[in-house]
Amino acid sequence: SSAEDGEREKLIAAHELTAKFYHYLLKNTTHGQEAMNYLRSRGITDKQIDQFMIGYAPPEWDMLVRFLEKREFNAQRMEKGGLLIAKQDGSGHIDRFRDRIMFPIWNRDGKVIAFAGRILGEGQPKYLNSPETMLFNKSRNLYNFHQARVVMRKSRRVVLFEGYMDVIKAWSAGVHNGVASMGTALTEEHATMLQRNVEEAVICYDGDNAGQEAALKTIPLLEKAGLRTQVAVLPRGIDPDEFIERNGAQTFIREIIEHPVSSVKFKLIYAKKNHILLEEEGRKNYSLEAVGIIAELDSPTEREFYLKELSREVDLSLESLKQDCYLAREKKHKSKPQRDNNDNSWNNGRNEN
Ligand code: ATP
Ligand code: MN
Ligand code: MN
Ligand code: MN
Repeated sequence: SSAEDGEREKLIAAHELTAKFYHYLLKNTTHGQEAMNYLRSRGITDKQIDQFMIGYAPPEWDMLVRFLEKREFNAQRMEKGGLLIAKQDGSGHIDRFRDRIMFPIWNRDGKVIAFAGRILGEGQPKYLNSPETMLFNKSRNLYNFHQARVVMRKSRRVVLFEGYMDVIKAWSAGVHNGVASMGTALTEEHATMLQRNVEEAVICYDGDNAGQEAALKTIPLLEKAGLRTQVAVLPRGIDPDEFIERNGAQTFIREIIEHPVSSVKFKLIYAKKNHILLEEEGRKNYSLEAVGIIAELDSPTEREFYLKELSREVDLSLESLKQDCYLAREKKHKSKPQRDNNDNSWNNGRNEN
């Protein structure tokens, strides 16, 4: 409705102004100076601060309340829009974000629709995000999508990160097709949004367990949406931002971004970590798990390629691995709904592919 459109426009205007306000406060106030020092210590330059419109929300309780009031924005609406919080005693509003580094979040048209606020240094919660509002839906928004889109379309490729800092640092390292899903798991909607712009996705998540597990879950989502998927693996426990800080932009591009492994290879590497190959039982179990992963591949050539590699690795005959692979595929096909059976409502057709 047009009333709703009007409301959206007002809220976008408020977000746009607020981003400029925080950005100004970062660059021009004494408190902002502290935030500026923090950003410098993280290796963020003035150029990136401007490009990503990074800002600072001061420690005061009502800085933004007063700023928005003066510009005649309705406080209740700004509360619904996530910028303000109602006081418990009902006597007005306070700012949602205080004493935090502010990262504006844009929609695909490049309009500010939400914020993420990082604490300076240690503390909880590390990041505070805007709530879901009429403008902001986490499962449909990717950080930096609007800026990355140009190079995404040109290179037919997107690089997926976990966090804001990763996207910003990678950008300065020359990766201009990087986006982040902002702390939530990548959704089907995200995957569809990406599929409309690229053919290939490179997952570049943190090198900790959480990151690698998230990568495992993201692979099938992207592949189901029709994207060729690879994984750029970081050293243990390191995230992209830290890697760039320690090793520099060139090394990041050359060693990480330009050397992703196929999604299958990544699954195999991950599976291997859970088995002790020096033990008989471990070697056997790993072999069977690996065969199961390889069996998912539809191309016989690709299957043979990985089976051969596996055969050398675990020192078992290609013949027996091939047979197990065949059995695994048989089993997979049997568990699928039959083509000529009309009634596949039992799984909502989800196993179709
Ligand atoms: P930094 O480099 O600033 O420490 P990070 O991006 O490395 O941050 P991670 O702990 O790896 O932080 O988390 C990845 C992403 O998950 C963050 O960038 C953020 O989007 C999201 N996130 C992390 N902690 C929180 C939190 N407490 N609340 C909401 N989102 C969070
Ligand atoms: Mn992490
Ligand atoms: Mn991280
Ligand atoms: Mn980090």
